[in-house]
Amino acid sequence: MAPHSVKPNLRDFQRAKFYRFEEAVIQRHPLNQLLSLDQCRALAHKYNATVLVKDGRGRRHAGASYEDNLITLPRWSRQTTIVLHEVAHTLVDSQYYPHHGAEFVGVLIGLLSRELVGTVESNTGAVLAARLKIDINWIFRDAFSQRNKMLR
Ligand SMILES: [Zn+2]
Repeated sequence: MAPHSVKPNLRDFQRAKFYRFEEAVIQRHPLNQLLSLDQCRALAHKYNATVLVKDGRGRRHAGASYEDNLITLPRWSRQTTIVLHEVAHTLVDSQYYPHHGAEFVGVLIGLLSRELVGTVESNTGAVLAARLKIDINWIFRDAFSQRNKMLR
């Protein structure tokens, strides 16, 4: 089989475990703050200059689409760590990588540390202690400039 026809395994193997980890560790950080929709937009645009931030009022779940380069934020989800989670989805192409896989976790840890929600060291340590997979090569990967280059 030619390499280009090999499909990666995209099963979202650590989704539930990662959500539990975020609730128990990341969301409890004191710098995880409640934000207005405008503040969410400003935060999202720091890391993805072209992302569309939609008012998800009335929706149950926050959401993100890499393909459409957008995030949707119900009221309850307007907090630093959830906005960064959704932004991370717009930086990792879900056609090639599992939604909450090692690459995604790496990107998110990078974003969290840039906002001082933990450090790369503390967050990576916590991720590994929770037996989650992380690809450290993605922590400081310039995923957002790649994204913006592609859209130019
Ligand atoms: Zn997610």
